[in-house]
Amino acid sequence: MHFETITPADDTWQAQALCAQTGPDFFFPDPGSSVREAKRICAMCELRPACLEYALANDERFGVWGGLSEKERLALRRTAH
Ligand code: SF4
Repeated sequence: MHFETITPADDTWQAQALCAQTGPDFFFPDPGSSVREAKRICAMCELRPACLEYALANDERFGVWGGLSEKERLALRRTAH
């Protein structure tokens, strides 16, 4: 669950991070499985911009962060340079 990584335990953050409520399974799917469900949850999450920014800044390689898969984040990093 990403909220544990981004900030220390904080009730406000946990209440806002939808992945904290659904559990990590959607966000770290087995290789080749669909990330559609994780993206759907991220799309409704208020923390999405901060989450994506954190993942890019910290070079998170695995799982869905801020609504983007690892491949999409890689593509974003490449076009940002
Ligand atoms: S944007 Fe997605 S991965 Fe990030 S905190 Fe929200 S639900 Fe979790």
